[in-house]
Amino acid sequence: MTTPDQSSLLALHQAFRDELVDAGLVILGSIPGSFGRSGEFEAIIDGLNSAISRAAGDLAPEVLRFPPLFPREAFERTGYLESFPNLTGEISTFTGDDRNHAALLAAREDGADWSHFLTPTDSMLVPAACHSSYPILTGQLPESGRTLDVSGYCFRHEPAIDPARMQAFRIREFVHAGTPDQAVAHRSEFLSRSISLVQDLGLEVEAVPANDPFFGRAGRILARSQRGESLKTELVVRLYGDSHDGTAIASGNYHRDHFGSHFDIRTANGNVAHSACVGFGLERFALALLRTHGLQTSRWSQHVRAALHL
Ligand code: ZN
Repeated sequence: MTTPDQSSLLALHQAFRDELVDAGLVILGSIPGSFGRSGEFEAIIDGLNSAISRAAGDLAPEVLRFPPLFPREAFERTGYLESFPNLTGEISTFTGDDRNHAALLAAREDGADWSHFLTPTDSMLVPAACHSSYPILTGQLPESGRTLDVSGYCFRHEPAIDPARMQAFRIREFVHAGTPDQAVAHRSEFLSRSISLVQDLGLEVEAVPANDPFFGRAGRILARSQRGESLKTELVVRLYGDSHDGTAIASGNYHRDHFGSHFDIRTANGNVAHSACVGFGLERFALALLRTHGLQTSRWSQHVRAALHL
């Protein structure tokens, strides 16, 4: 049952989505949470990417870009299937012969389900930009560890009306693998730079302890321990007013030795590496700016426009 609070939030989501469509900033398709974007929207994303690069510049991270496909074998090692099976996306294709092809077309012609004619491939859709970096880090790290700047489209199956909850969206994140101290220091350094950046762009942001939406009963225990040990901090902007939960536009995560042990990443002295990442949800960051400063970027303050090269 929907509570009055939930239905008022749903109405706010719908209204914001409609405003974005009316303003021509996003193009709605039939898949909830999958939008086309206008040139004006993309100009904000480009501006954010430049501003984020400037904020990270002196740390000289290695820049790596990956497609949204992720090998099934690496996907299994991330532990995603254990924690978020409901958000998973897999790529299937047709591998049959002429006879199977004819049967597929006949089923489609009859309006029957034809998905069982497709076979899973070795590719999954990547759910977080940093996941593509862990197979690259396998092996021994230099003394100072490694800091990577990664970005790309990610997929999570969570259809929603809220334009800030997309199924396909871009994450820009900074990953560090090294000693426990290096990983923790990376997270706090990037979180504080991120807070300054977000505030400089005129957003009211709060850093809050958070947990991932782990699946099922075992997931509730994981969520509690993630929160209890302060492994996740979200930077939250209140898109829908003070009476509703805010929207995380960025998060900082300390994974301890989770990826280090699953991907055999070692520090210079041979210990299992620890890792941390700080990532921005680029579309959410853009939506927070639009919600705060208005839907016409030409009317944004000179300072914000200059910072984003608009
Ligand atoms: Zn990450």
